[in-house]
Amino acid sequence: MAYGLQDVITLRQMQQDYGAADQQKRIEQQKLDAMLGLCEIISCRRQALLHYFGDSLDEPCGNCDNCLTPPDTWEATVAAQKALSCVYRTEQRFGVTYLVDVLLGKRNERISRFGHDSLSTFGIGTELTASEWKALFRQLIASGFLSVDMEGHGGIKLTANAKPILRGEQSLTLRKPSKPARRSSKGASAAKGHGVLWEALRQHRKGLADAQGVPAYVIFNDATLAELVEQKPQTLQALGTISGIGARKLEDYGEGFLAVVLAHPDEPAASAPVGSSALESAALLRQGLTPEQVAEQRGLVANTVYRHLSDAIQGSELALEEVVNLDPATLAQIRAAFEQFPGQGLKVVFEALEGRIDYPVLHCVRASMAAKG
Ligand SMILES: [Zn+2]
Repeated sequence: MAYGLQDVITLRQMQQDYGAADQQKRIEQQKLDAMLGLCEIISCRRQALLHYFGDSLDEPCGNCDNCLTPPDTWEATVAAQKALSCVYRTEQRFGVTYLVDVLLGKRNERISRFGHDSLSTFGIGTELTASEWKALFRQLIASGFLSVDMEGHGGIKLTANAKPILRGEQSLTLRKPSKPARRSSKGASAAKGHGVLWEALRQHRKGLADAQGVPAYVIFNDATLAELVEQKPQTLQALGTISGIGARKLEDYGEGFLAVVLAHPDEPAASAPVGSSALESAALLRQGLTPEQVAEQRGLVANTVYRHLSDAIQGSELALEEVVNLDPATLAQIRAAFEQFPGQGLKVVFEALEGRIDYPVLHCVRASMAAKG
C-alpha cells in the first residue's frame, strides 16, 4: 500500500488518456477512486471492500493489515482545512508543489507574481514539513476531497466532498504517512535492480520538476532514465540519441543530466581485475601519450580513456601521478572533499570544490584512494 502522489496523478492521467467513451471513463474513474480510497482507509479493509461490492460484514475481519496492525492516525481536520482553503484561495489552478510553497510561506518569483504572498493562507502551514504537506495532499486526492484537473495542466481542484471539511462540519482522521525513507529505500534501486546512477537521475529530475511545478514525467519518463543508465552517454550529442530526448529537451536539460551521468562512472568491484581495454590505454599512457592522445589513437572519447585510467589506478596498475598532474595542495583538497562526503558520488565533491576540478581528474583521485596500499 505504499504509493506516492505521483502514482495517483499518473493513474488518473492514464485513466483519462485511455480514450474510452465517457460512460466507460466514468466507470474507470469510480473504480480508481475506490481503489485509492481503499489505500487510505484506517478501518477494516475487508469490510470496505465487501461494502464496495454491495455486500456487508458486521464485524471487522480481524485478518487484514488494518485489523492486525491498526495504523497510526492523526487528527488532520485543521491541516486539511488549511490545505483545502489554500487550493480555494489560489483559484484551483496550481499543482501540489506550488500549494505547499504557499502554505510554508516561501517567497519566490512565481508566488509574488500571482500576489499569493498576500493571501491569508500564505505561511499558515509551518507546523508541517513540505513532505508532510505533500503526503496530506496525496491523501486528500486519494480520499476524494481534491481532484487533479488533467486538462488544466494538473491543477488541484476541490470536490463537493471538501465543503463539509472547510465549513467545520466534518472532522478528518488520517493515517500517518509511512516514513519517506521506506519508500525511497524500497524505490527503484532495490526493486528494479537499478543503482546509484538511477537514483541520482531521479533526484535530478525531481529537482527540475519541483522547481517548475510539474510532474516528474513531464521532464523525462522512466524509460528515458532507464536508457540513460544503460547507455551512459558521455557527450551531449550522445545524450541526444536517447529516446525521449528531443532537441528542445536536450537544450533545456541536457547538460544537467549529462553532469549526473558523468558524475557516476562505473564503479568496478574492488577485486575485479583491470580490463584488457583499460590496460591497453594504460600502456599507451606509459609510452608518453596524454589521455586525449590515447583517446584519439584508439578512437574512443576522452571520458572512456579516463575511466580506463582510473580503473588502472584503482587496480594499482598505474600511479595517480602518471595520469594527472596535481600540485600537492590541490590533491590534498580533493582528498579532503572525498573524505568529507563519503560514498556520495562525484557531483557533491565537484560542487564542493566549486567546479575547479574536472570530473575525469576526480575519478582518478577517487580511484587512487580506493586502490590498495
Ligand atoms: Zn479487517
